[in-house]
Amino acid sequence: MNLNPDSNGFYGIYGGAFVPEVLYPNVLELQYIYSEIIGSKAFVHDQEQLLRHYVGRPTPLTFATGLSEKYGARVYLKREDLCHTGSHKLNNVIGQILLAKHMGKRCIIAETGAGQHGVATATVCALMKFPCKVFMGAKDMTRQQPNVFRMRMLGAEVIPVQSGSQSLKDATNEAIRYWVANPEDTYYLIGSAIGPHPYPDMVARFQSVISREITTQLTSQEGCANPNYVLACVGGGSNAIGAFYHFINSSKTRLIAAEAAGKGVGTGYTAATMAVGSVGVIHGCKTRLIQTDDGQIVEAHSVSAGLDYPGIGPFHAALRDANRVSYLSITDTEALTAAFDVAKSDGIIPALESAHALAVLPKLQLKSTDVVVVNLSGRGDKDMETYASIDATSMP
Ligand SMILES: *Cc1c(COP(=O)(O)O)cnc(C)c1O
Repeated sequence: MNLNPDSNGFYGIYGGAFVPEVLYPNVLELQYIYSEIIGSKAFVHDQEQLLRHYVGRPTPLTFATGLSEKYGARVYLKREDLCHTGSHKLNNVIGQILLAKHMGKRCIIAETGAGQHGVATATVCALMKFPCKVFMGAKDMTRQQPNVFRMRMLGAEVIPVQSGSQSLKDATNEAIRYWVANPEDTYYLIGSAIGPHPYPDMVARFQSVISREITTQLTSQEGCANPNYVLACVGGGSNAIGAFYHFINSSKTRLIAAEAAGKGVGTGYTAATMAVGSVGVIHGCKTRLIQTDDGQIVEAHSVSAGLDYPGIGPFHAALRDANRVSYLSITDTEALTAAFDVAKSDGIIPALESAHALAVLPKLQLKSTDVVVVNLSGRGDKDMETYASIDATSMP
C-alpha cells in the first residue's frame, strides 16, 4: 500500500485541501516548502537533536510482564507516556515548529480541545521564542482548567471561543478564521493527522518515529523487526498512524485501532467515527465523520477528552476501506477497566486515551508466541480526577 498521498493530497477518495479560497496560496506555500525540506539534512539534524535531548527519545519499549502473563502472549508497551509533556504530541509539534521557523513565520496559532495539543504547542513556542495563540472553547476552558494555567505559564495567549457548542470544533473554526485574516505571518499548527493537505501526511511522518523505533527495539529485544499485532487508540489518528507507519506493508503484522465508543455506538453518546460516521468534509479534508443526514457535524462523546472528536484523519479512512487496519469500538467502561488493570499488573497508570488501546487485548485470540505492541500514547496524571471518581475497589 502506498504510504504517500497523491500530489493533491488524496489517499484514494479521502484527503485533499478544502479551505477558503484566500487560504489556498498559504496551503500551497506550505505544501511546497514542506516537500522541499522534509528530507533535507539540516532539518533532519535539528529534528533529531530536539527529539533526543528535549523530548527524551527514543522512548523505551517495555516488556509488560503482568499483561503478558494475563493474556498468554508477549506484550510490549511503547512508552510515549515518557515523552516531555506526557504524550506523543511533542513529536509532531517539534517538526512543525522547525518548519514554521524555516518558513519565516512570526506567530503560531493552534486549536485545542482538552488542552493537550495546546500545551504541547505552547511548550515548543516557549522553546523557540514564538508568540503563540491557542483557541479553546469557553466550555473546554472551564472543564480543563489546569491545562489553561499550563499554557499561560508557558507564555501562550489562550483565546476563549464563545460560539457554537464552545468546544473543539468551534475552536477549530475560530483558528481558521484567524488564519484567513492573517495569512502571511501566521503558521497554523495542527495537532493530529487531519486538516488540509499536507498536514495529514506531515503529521504521520513526524509521528512515524514511533514505529521506526519499535522496529529497531524489537529487533534487539525480541530478535524480530515485525510484531504480530500493533494496537493504538485513535482520535484524529496521529499516535496510531505513527505506531502503524513502518508496518503498513508488513503482511505479518495485524494493525488494530481502538476508537472511543463512549457510552456505546448505538447510544448517540459516542466518538466511534468508523462505526457510525459517513463521508464528508471536516477540518479542511474529506474523510469520515459523525454527522446528521443534512451534513451538520455531531458533537462526539467519550470519557477521554483526547478521543472526543467527531472526525478521523483521511489516511485512516483509506486504510479502513482497504481493510488494512481494523477499527474496534471501545466503551468508556472497557477503557476504565483496562486502565485499572495495567496500573496493578505492570505499575503504569495510562492516559484514558491509551487505555482504549489496552482494552483491545482481551478481545484478541492470542497465541503464546504472538508479539503484541501496544502504543501507550500518554500518561494518566491528567486523568486522575476521572479515575478518582471511580470506586477503585469495584475495578479488577
Ligand atoms: C491527543 C491524544 C490522543 C489522541 O490523538 P491522536 O491524534 O488520535 O493520537 C491520544 N492519546 C493521548 C495521550 C493524547 O494526548
